[in-house]
Amino acid sequence: MARIRTVKPEFWEDEVVGLMPRDARLLFVATFNMADDEGLLRWTPAYIKASAFMYDDDLSVPDVAKLMQYVTDAGLLYPYIGGVARQQMAVIVNFRKHQKINRPQKSKLPPPSLQNGEVRRMYARRDNWTCQLCGGGIPEQPVQNDSHNLSIDHINHQSAGGTDHPSNVRAAHQGCNKGRKDREDDEFVPPRSLGGLNDSLSNSLNGSVSAHAPGMRDDSEVNPSRNASTQSDIRSLNDSVNGSLTSSLAEGKGREGNREGNGTGKGTPSPPPAASTSDDPGPAFDEFWSRYPRKAGKSEAAKSWVKATKAGADPDLLLAALKAHADYHQAAKTEQQYIPHASTWLNQKRYEDEPPSLPRSAGPQTAPRHMTEEEKKRALQF
Ligand SMILES: [Zn+2]
Repeated sequence: MARIRTVKPEFWEDEVVGLMPRDARLLFVATFNMADDEGLLRWTPAYIKASAFMYDDDLSVPDVAKLMQYVTDAGLLYPYIGGVARQQMAVIVNFRKHQKINRPQKSKLPPPSLQNGEVRRMYARRDNWTCQLCGGGIPEQPVQNDSHNLSIDHINHQSAGGTDHPSNVRAAHQGCNKGRKDREDDEFVPPRSLGGLNDSLSNSLNGSVSAHAPGMRDDSEVNPSRNASTQSDIRSLNDSVNGSLTSSLAEGKGREGNREGNGTGKGTPSPPPAASTSDDPGPAFDEFWSRYPRKAGKSEAAKSWVKATKAGADPDLLLAALKAHADYHQAAKTEQQYIPHASTWLNQKRYEDEPPSLPRSAGPQTAPRHMTEEEKKRALQF
């Protein structure tokens, strides 16, 4: 039953992990070996005691229960009651992010029920509240327009034998989930009902969404202060018929041409209409697409490319930034699903980010006793 697993060097730097008592950290590492290839394991104090602390006479079963509580309170494992036998189970939330599994064995354990809203939110947190189909943000609090709200998409459809196990489910907008139907990812085009949502959400959330910077730290816990701003952003989004208006107002950089009264009192000349009528992305886009590390949503990417270059982004600089982005994900062996869609990368202007560095600078860090919210946001979240 036990399996060989990986402990990444980042584990020891993770601030959430570092704040737990040492025995709780040891327990957490032990769960990697105890879990099946979906990251599921039995989660009773007696079982954990017998499996991980069999020689520790000084550690009682209630002591082990306390250690288990630390691990679940930190959000590293999610406890649930599984199957008709109502077994006490847990899932290691970010298991597949950290374990590369060759020829995964099918889980014989019951997954957490997707009927449970808390379970759906756990997966949304795992996926950084980002729609895994269109790359746009998902509001943490439900909004009026249901197509923007959270749903759980089955990668391999249930009709084709896909299960509710963690590796087969992902967070998606309800609209995107419905729009995908039985299609493959590459054929998926976000539905019209979501028009403008992605740009507006990603622009307004830029800086607060932890997925902004590439690399391990993408996986950090979501910013708790995001709720309020998301709510109001979405309200203003719903009020605005045209999503792109919201995004250019938020950016204040006159994307898609300057609108009158949009704070352009300096007399910046608007581009002549003739220069912006062509929607042909051109050969530079073909090169961009051929190098982009995730091949999903090409037509959306082409639109975003046209938009970015019309707004003044230099194609050569875009390609140079893309190289750093692609090199990084190749070196980091990032799984496809955690690489943003090209349209997201362009819309969020991630090409303006500091180029990611590899390997990570690994200076010695002392774990703080109490983390600020900012530090929690940066923690790696195993
Ligand atoms: Zn979506």
